[in-house]
Amino acid sequence: MSAKTEIVKEKKGTKPSKNAWLGYTGTQKNEVFALAEGYKTFISDCKTERECTTELLRQAKELGYTDLKEAIAKNKKLKPGDKLYVNHMGKAVALFLIGKKPLEEGMKILGAHIDSPRLDLKQVPFYEDTEMALLDTHYYGGIKKYQWVTLPLALHGVVAKKDGTVVPVVIGEKDDDPVVGITDLLIHLSAKQMEKNAAKVVEGEDLNILVGSIPLKGEEKEAVKANILAMLEASYGITEEDFVSAEIEAVPAGRARDFGIDRSMVMGYGQDDRVCAYTSAKAMFEMKEIDRTAVCLLVDKEEIGSVGATGMHSRFFENAVAEIMNLCGDYSELKVRRALANSVMLSSDVSAAYDPNYPSVSEKKNTAYFGKGLVFNKYTGSRGKSGSNDANAEYIGRLRAAMDAHKVTYQTSELGRVDEGGGGTIAYIMANYGMEVIDSGVAVLNMHAPWEITSKSDLYEAYCGYAAFLKEL
Ligand code: MN
Ligand code: MN
Repeated sequence: MSAKTEIVKEKKGTKPSKNAWLGYTGTQKNEVFALAEGYKTFISDCKTERECTTELLRQAKELGYTDLKEAIAKNKKLKPGDKLYVNHMGKAVALFLIGKKPLEEGMKILGAHIDSPRLDLKQVPFYEDTEMALLDTHYYGGIKKYQWVTLPLALHGVVAKKDGTVVPVVIGEKDDDPVVGITDLLIHLSAKQMEKNAAKVVEGEDLNILVGSIPLKGEEKEAVKANILAMLEASYGITEEDFVSAEIEAVPAGRARDFGIDRSMVMGYGQDDRVCAYTSAKAMFEMKEIDRTAVCLLVDKEEIGSVGATGMHSRFFENAVAEIMNLCGDYSELKVRRALANSVMLSSDVSAAYDPNYPSVSEKKNTAYFGKGLVFNKYTGSRGKSGSNDANAEYIGRLRAAMDAHKVTYQTSELGRVDEGGGGTIAYIMANYGMEVIDSGVAVLNMHAPWEITSKSDLYEAYCGYAAFLKEL
């Protein structure tokens, strides 16, 4: 018998194989749709890790979170109920709600990532070909390149000038903004292209964004490019050379929308993993006081291996914990290690939702479904669980109790059939401290495509599940 069937028989009230929509009262259904409205706004306005950081910190400050850096500068004595935020290089966030118990006893950590697959402009992006101006890109994260052509794209990011000013750029999101994009070959002349395999139909070096076609009068060479650069200089005060120190991301233009005639789903860009980031932060924001210190940790660079100063492999979080323990008057190297080892974590990231169009990649009993709630993945990885954090059975038992105590709809899943493929998250990195970690999250269709789809009920159950975790663990 499958584990899933056992859970169903064991306890009424839990509905792991039942559709969450069927369990909602009218009020709850309103809550589900209301949560989705806030979520759609968030993912529409925040399409880069920087934009997510800025917005979540804005919300945190409104709720009384203060900068850890300031607390350090003032040598502020921390007490239970204090709320602090860490803004790490504008691309990663850690929120702390200080608990009544000493940090040494461990924290309750909600983790997720706020970077998403996209096309980054190269450092020298501009060129002109046959009186068209284009931008060269290097894709970020795992994408099916053929999905990124013939779409309206927007440019989001920053340009850092030599004088130290950092200029934010967003082109393509306002209703009257122009959009940019990557062309594809017309079907009439595609006989040879159509014979290529899908990995080669559109190649990485060909992901060039068309941005203009009017030549600047009086300019002899590359006059179209010159015209675009002149417009950018006029609007933003930036030059071609400034793009050497810029981070501009090309992302799908436009806002997230309701999906489905019944409006049960959300279609939007970057739901991997902002769906987990948003719900984790929301659960965190609602906590006013707590027994053991609560943390919401939202990191960058997951899609390229959690590397770099803002990725989960960075020590910035460990350093923040040490600083906080110091301000609690309770610091030692040993105590920091104990605090980390005694912690529990939900490492939240999206799961592959069962897709009726592609049933062959899933094993039906161990797959995530829309409408069946928060997903727990005991392990991810590939080729015999390789590279995964294989969560402890005892820890999963505690989580089941917490979810049931708050009537959270949840399900368990693997990423596809055995040997079908695989993937990783930040879970194994935090597990290195010896803490209890499990992968959890929300099921997504079209994962890593420009427009991803989630179920509003799963979004709601994830939020309820994260709140239950903070209350019960
Ligand atoms: Mn992810
Ligand atoms: Mn991903």
